[in-house]
Amino acid sequence: MHGKESFLKQLVFDNRFINQLPADPLQENQRRQVYKACYSLVKPKPVKYPQLLIYSREMARQLGLSDEDCESELFAEVFVGNRLLPGMQPYASCYGGHQFGQWAGQLGDGRAINLGEVINPDGQRWVLQLKGAGPTPYSRSADGLAVLRSSLREFLCSEAMFHLGVPTTRALSLVLTGEQVLRDMFYDGNPQWEAGAVVCRAAPSFTRFGHFQLFAARQDLATLKALLDYTITTDFPELGPPAPASYLQWFSEVCRRTADMIVHWQRLGFVHGVMNTDNMSVLGLTIDYGPYGWLENYDPDWTPNTTDAQGRRYRFGNQPQIAYWNLVQLANAIYPLIEQLEPLQQALAVYGSHFEQRWQAMMAGKLGLQVFKPQTDHQLVADLQDLLNRGEIDMTLFYRGLADVGVTQDPADFEALLQNSGYSQLTMDIKAAAAAWFAAYQSRLRVDNQPVEQRARGMRSLNPCYVLRNYLAQQAIDKAEQGDFSLAWELLDVLRHPYHEQPGKERFAEKRPEWARQRAGCSMLSCSS
Ligand code: AMP
Ligand code: MG
Repeated sequence: MHGKESFLKQLVFDNRFINQLPADPLQENQRRQVYKACYSLVKPKPVKYPQLLIYSREMARQLGLSDEDCESELFAEVFVGNRLLPGMQPYASCYGGHQFGQWAGQLGDGRAINLGEVINPDGQRWVLQLKGAGPTPYSRSADGLAVLRSSLREFLCSEAMFHLGVPTTRALSLVLTGEQVLRDMFYDGNPQWEAGAVVCRAAPSFTRFGHFQLFAARQDLATLKALLDYTITTDFPELGPPAPASYLQWFSEVCRRTADMIVHWQRLGFVHGVMNTDNMSVLGLTIDYGPYGWLENYDPDWTPNTTDAQGRRYRFGNQPQIAYWNLVQLANAIYPLIEQLEPLQQALAVYGSHFEQRWQAMMAGKLGLQVFKPQTDHQLVADLQDLLNRGEIDMTLFYRGLADVGVTQDPADFEALLQNSGYSQLTMDIKAAAAAWFAAYQSRLRVDNQPVEQRARGMRSLNPCYVLRNYLAQQAIDKAEQGDFSLAWELLDVLRHPYHEQPGKERFAEKRPEWARQRAGCSMLSCSS
C-alpha cells in the first residue's frame, strides 16, 4: 500500500498565487463580499463514500502519476477533498463578471477549490482545482456542490478537447461523493436528488477576465495591478518585467490566444453555451464546461443552453463577436493601469485581424485548400454553410466525408455524402444547390492543384471523425447513473484519437439518432449543474 501511495505524496507544490497575492483576512467559510484580496483560504467539505469513477491517464502522466497511483484509495480521498497532501493549501479565488451582458458584481469560485500548484517533473506548473467540493465564501445562495451528470460532461469534454488540439483546461479525475445533491434541472419546480461528484481540473492558471474586472469595478487599483503583475511574471514571463508596455503586449497576447481558441471552436462545431466574462481564461483556454454542445445539423443559430434560448447570445455563429465583446470588457478593466486609449484600441484590433487570418487558414484547411483566396473563397464557404444549414447536414460527418469525395471527385458521391450525413431528405432545391457548389469546389481544387492523397490527409487531420456528440455524453451519463462506468471509459478512449477511424468504434461516429432530437441533456441543457 505504501509503495502505491508514494508518487502522490511526492508531488511538489509551489503555491505562488496565494504566496504572492493578497489574501482575505477572514478565514471562516461564510458567504460574503471579499475586498482587496485575490482569494480566501477554505477547506473542501469531507464526504462519506468517495469512489473513483474515471481518471485521465494523460493528465495523470503530466503530474508524474501512474495508474497505480490513480487507482489507490488515497487518490480518491485526495481528489474528492477528504485529505490534503503535504504542500496543498486550499483556497477559492475572487472574481466578478458580466453574465449574459450584464455586470454581475462579485462571483468567485463558488464551488471550485484550488488545492495548490504542482510543479511537474518537466518544471511545468499545474494548478489543481476541485469542482463541487463544498461551499466557499463565494457560493452566494448555492451549495458549492456538483452532480454526476454535469461532472462527467466536464470531465469527458475537457479531455476530448485536449485530444482534438483545442486549448483547454484539463480534467484529472471524477470521484463520486456517495452523497446526494438536490437539483432542479429545468428550473421548473421539480427538483430531484442526484449523485454528487467532484471533478479535479488542471490548468497552468484559472485566472479569468472577471478577476481583473472585479478589482477595476471596485476601483481597487492596487489589487488589480498586483494580479496583472503576477500574471505576467508567472504565466507570460516572455513579455519581460511588468510595466505599462508589457501590459499592452499582454493584452494583445490575450486577444491572439482568444482568437485562436474561437477559431478551433468554429472549426469543430463546439458551442460553449455560457461565454460570460467569468468563463473566459486569460490563457485562452476553453474553461467551465457547462451547457456546452456540439453542432449536429449545421446551424449557426443553435445554442444548447436553454437558459439562453430567448436572446441566443451565445449561439454558435455569435461566438467570435462575443469573444470580442468580452475582450473589450477586459480592456476596460486594465485601462486604469495604462491610461492610454489608443494603444489599447490597437491591441484590441489584433483580435479581429488575427481571428480573420486564422479563420481563413482554418476554413481553407477544412476544405483541403493550401491557401484561402478571399476573392473566391468567402463565397465558396458562405454557399457551403448555407447548403449545410438548409439541408440539415451533420457538420462533423460532412467534413470528415469530404476528404473521400475529394479523392473520387464524383458528384454522385457528394450527393450521397449529403444524404447520409443529413437529418432530412434532400429536396430538389438542395440537390441543385449541392451540384452547383460541388462544381465550384472542384474547379477551385483544380486551381489549388494539390496531390489528391496529400489533400485528403490534411483534411482528415483537421476534420475529426469523433467528437463528444451530445447524445453520446448523455448515454455515458445514463449508464454511469446506473453504476456502469464502462461507456464513460470507452468514450474517453475513443476520443483519445479523434482524427483516426477506429475499427469497431463506428457507433461513436454516427449522427444523432431520432430519439435524441428533443431529449433533455442531448440537445437542451440548462445551467443547473
Ligand atoms: P457558471 O455559470 O458555472 O460559470 O457559474 C457562475 C458563478 O456561479 C460562479 O461564481 C460559480 O462559482 C457559481 N456557482 C455555480 N454553481 C454553483 C453552486 N452549485 N454552488 C456555488 N456556486 C456556484
Ligand atoms: Mg463559471
